[in-house]
Amino acid sequence: MKRRDFIRGAAYLAVGTAAVACGLKRGGRVKDTSETIPAQEQDRSPRPYQPIESARFKLSWEPFELSLIHSFTVSGSSRTTTPDVLVRLEYDGYTGYGEASLPPYLGHTVDSVCKFLSKVDLSSFRDPFRLTEIMDYVNSLSDGDAPAKAAVDIALHDLFGKLMGQPLWRIKGLDPTATPNTSFTIGMDTPENMAAKTKEVEGKYKILKVKLGAGNDLAMIDAIRSVSSLPIAVDVNQGWKDRMKALYEMYALKERGVVLVEQPLPKNNFKDLAWLSERAPLPIFADEAVQNLADLKRISHLYNGVNIKLMKCGGLLEAEKMKAYAKASGLKVMLGCMTETSCAISAAAQISPGVDFADLDGNLLISNDPFEGVKIIDGKITLNNLPGLGLTVAG
Ligand code: MG
Repeated sequence: MKRRDFIRGAAYLAVGTAAVACGLKRGGRVKDTSETIPAQEQDRSPRPYQPIESARFKLSWEPFELSLIHSFTVSGSSRTTTPDVLVRLEYDGYTGYGEASLPPYLGHTVDSVCKFLSKVDLSSFRDPFRLTEIMDYVNSLSDGDAPAKAAVDIALHDLFGKLMGQPLWRIKGLDPTATPNTSFTIGMDTPENMAAKTKEVEGKYKILKVKLGAGNDLAMIDAIRSVSSLPIAVDVNQGWKDRMKALYEMYALKERGVVLVEQPLPKNNFKDLAWLSERAPLPIFADEAVQNLADLKRISHLYNGVNIKLMKCGGLLEAEKMKAYAKASGLKVMLGCMTETSCAISAAAQISPGVDFADLDGNLLISNDPFEGVKIIDGKITLNNLPGLGLTVAG
């Protein structure tokens, strides 16, 4: 099946959603409650969607290779594409979209995602609103496979919002104006090229993110500083091995306008991390060290903040639990991403109101995004009013 055919369901989806939003009766499926609702309320209350007894879920998927605009280098690897799997979840003429992004260093593959998805049997579920029940089942199918589980979770949430005729942020009671600015990642390169990449995005963002850990960290920051005065978040991706050197670098980075450091040391080096945390002049965020809520509970005392990513934790339900736990524990929250299409980025953006930092630029780093969704306007995540994740198929 071609990708265009795979995602074409959006056209009839819009028609179906409009019918619900306008309160149109759909083939006698909606229970008529006119006798029990006062006349003035009948006029302004759209008929809620009711699950259809005869309707069934249909889950389908398609491998899709993301093409990166610039080759992407972090501490330890470099690549020009990212494997991905697009997912569709259909129900009663509506379609929810999901996605599993698979950066090679995480150990998941297109095959492992497809194998997992082929095990997902939703035939016993009748109510598409029972997200927790459905995801409990999906999560029970294996101990890992977080990106594949995230793909199902994201598609379920998109479907959920479309059936409700509302954007997810509104269903969750969030303020769409409280979204954060997103950082834009300047990948590892020569100092000259990093300065050039920074100039390319001048004026579009309010904060930059820079990958460090290759050995010439301060030269790279100085190159960026030569063309930009924006605050910088740095991500070391476990690339520093010596705690004294790490502490020295953090002081030098602070002097250069860096505002936080992500995963400075190897994730299992708890002893040196505790030492560094006690002395560090900048907040330290966990990324590789925290995949899900269980990890967060275990190591939250070692960090000042956490980078929550849907592909690490298995979707929006788990991400929301992590966000709540982190905030209750006094940790700062960053919402992050892999290189992804606008599907998974828009999903994370739905729960971004109120978080401290966002690094949701993965869709901006690819040249073949099949969707349009959340926009970045003047550096800020800007949600739309479309139902579900707010997606349309790119023209
Ligand atoms: Mg990171």
